[in-house]
Amino acid sequence: MLYHSINNSKNLVSFENAVLNGISPDGSLYIPQYIPKLNILSNKKFFDRDDNLIALSVIKPYLGKDITDNCIFNIIDNTLKFPFPIKKIHDNIYTLELFHGPTLAFKDVGAKFMAEYLNFISNKIGKKITVLVATSGDTGGAVAKAFYKKKGIEVIILYPRNGISSLQEKQISSLGHNILSLEIDGNFDNCQYIVKKSFLDKEIKKKYILTSANSINIARLLPQMFYYFISYKNIIKKIKDISELVFSVPSGNFGNICAGMMAEKMGLPIKFFIASTNINDTIPRFLSTNKYDPMVTKKTISNAMDISNPSNFPRIWNFLYKKNFIQIKKKLYSYSFTDSETLSTIIDVYNNYKYIMDPHGAIGYLGISRHSNKKLKSSCIYIFLETAHPFKFLENMPCSIRKNISKNKNIMEMLNNRKIKKISIKNNFDQFKSWLLENK
Ligand SMILES: *Cc1c(COP(=O)(O)O)cnc(C)c1O
Repeated sequence: MLYHSINNSKNLVSFENAVLNGISPDGSLYIPQYIPKLNILSNKKFFDRDDNLIALSVIKPYLGKDITDNCIFNIIDNTLKFPFPIKKIHDNIYTLELFHGPTLAFKDVGAKFMAEYLNFISNKIGKKITVLVATSGDTGGAVAKAFYKKKGIEVIILYPRNGISSLQEKQISSLGHNILSLEIDGNFDNCQYIVKKSFLDKEIKKKYILTSANSINIARLLPQMFYYFISYKNIIKKIKDISELVFSVPSGNFGNICAGMMAEKMGLPIKFFIASTNINDTIPRFLSTNKYDPMVTKKTISNAMDISNPSNFPRIWNFLYKKNFIQIKKKLYSYSFTDSETLSTIIDVYNNYKYIMDPHGAIGYLGISRHSNKKLKSSCIYIFLETAHPFKFLENMPCSIRKNISKNKNIMEMLNNRKIKKISIKNNFDQFKSWLLENK
C-alpha cells in the first residue's frame, strides 16, 4: 500500500515515510491509495480468531511488504495489552469502554502502536529517531507513556507553562529516561510554532531524524480500527441475530470516528455512525446545511473535543466519501450537545442504571438518544464509545457523583507521587534550537 496527500495523488510514499513525515509536504494529511476489502460476510470464521489475529488481518494490507507478519504481530501484541469491554447500559444501548489503557483514554491505542512501529523502524535503519510533539495536555501523556524506554527513540514534549493540569504534567514530566519534557513560557500555539519551525530547520534536520506523533499521523489513526472489529466480535458472541449495528462516537478531531468509518468501508457490517459533539458543532451544521463554516472554538467540560476545525474530517469527506453529500448522509449523522445536557445525562444514567459516564462518553450516549428520539429501534444495537475514564475529568464531573468513581490500578499509578523533571525554556525558537543542537 502506498500513501499520498489528500490534495495530490501523484507523490506516492511508503507507509514508513508517511509515518516519519507525519504530514505530507504540501501540509495536508496522508491517505492510503485505496481501502482494502476484507471478505467478512462470506468468511464465517473471520471472527472465530483471537483478537490479535483479527487485528493482523485488518492492518496488514496497510503496511506494505517491507515488514513481516511476525513483526506486525509483535507490534499488535504489544499494543493490545488492555481489554475493550462492552457493557449494557439499558435496552439495546451498550458502551464500549476504551479507557483501560495506562493514561485512561482511547489515545493509548494509537500512541502505543506508533511507538512499537517506530521502534521497528529504528532497528531496521540502525538510527535513533526523535519524536517532537507539542501538547495541550492529553496527547503528551499518552505519547510519553507509550514511548517510555523504547529503544532507539527519544521523545521531546513541549507544553505550555500553566497550560496543563498538574496530573497531566506529572504524566509527561515524571518518567525521565528517553522522555524529555520542556516547559515553554508561552501557550499551546507557541509550542506548536516551535515544533513546526523545527521540522523546517536545515541544521536540526541534519542532526536528527525528526518525526511528530500528533493525532493526524497515519500510524495513530489506523490501529483505532482494531477496537471496532474486536467489539463487533464481542457483540455478536453476546447477542444472536443482530440485524443492525450503530456506533456513536464522541468526536473532536474526528480521528476515532474516521477509523470506524474506514473499518466499515473494509467490510465491517455497521449500519451507520453518529458523530456526537459538544457545542463546537461545525460538522453537525455541515451535515444539515452542506456549508463548512467553523466558528471560534468554545470551552466546554468535554474539553478533549473543544475543536472547531476537525483535522481528520477531510479524510472522511474528501477520501471516504469523495465529497458526495448524499452518500455521506446515508452513513453519518451528527448532533451537538451543551454542557448542561451533558451533566444532567451523567446524573440520569447514574441514577437509573448505576453507570458512570465521563463527559465525552455522555455526549456519545446523548447522540443515540437524540437520533432515536427515545424510540429505540428494537432490531438495532447502539454502542457509544466511552473514550475516557471519568476519573480523568474529575473536575468536570457532577459533584454528587465524584465520590462514587472508583480508582483502578492505572489511576493509582498515575497518582503516585513521582518527582517532576522538566527543562524550562523561553518562548523563543532560537533558544530551543540551541538547546537542541548544543546543550541537550
Ligand atoms: C481525543 C479525545 C476525543 C476526541 O477524539 P477525536 O479522534 O479527536 O475525535 C474524545 N474523547 C476523549 C476523552 C479524547 O481524549
